[in-house]
Amino acid sequence: MGEVKTQPVAAVHLDGWKELVERKIPGSVSFSPFPDEDGEQYMSYVCPCGCGHQSNLLVGNGFKPSDSPSWQWNGSHDKPTLTPSVHHVGHWHGWLTDGVWRSC
Ligand SMILES: [Zn+2]
Repeated sequence: MGEVKTQPVAAVHLDGWKELVERKIPGSVSFSPFPDEDGEQYMSYVCPCGCGHQSNLLVGNGFKPSDSPSWQWNGSHDKPTLTPSVHHVGHWHGWLTDGVWRSC
């Protein structure tokens, strides 16, 4: 399966996982309401390519959690930035920067 290239896609912030999975807006994101005691939480997202797949990433606010895979997050709901890049089940690979998904 080849990787899909997309134009930049806005990461629309939604208020919860339920809305995320019901609306399936490409590139939309939601965050678990509270970090755990280690300061880690989950960012849910819908694949930016339009396939409708949904997944969850372990993120740390300002740090990369020790468990892998995980991502450092800038703490913003509306303009999230994650590092490193996000690779979605072998068919979309790109970066989420300042609230925009860009394929690479
Ligand atoms: Zn996809």
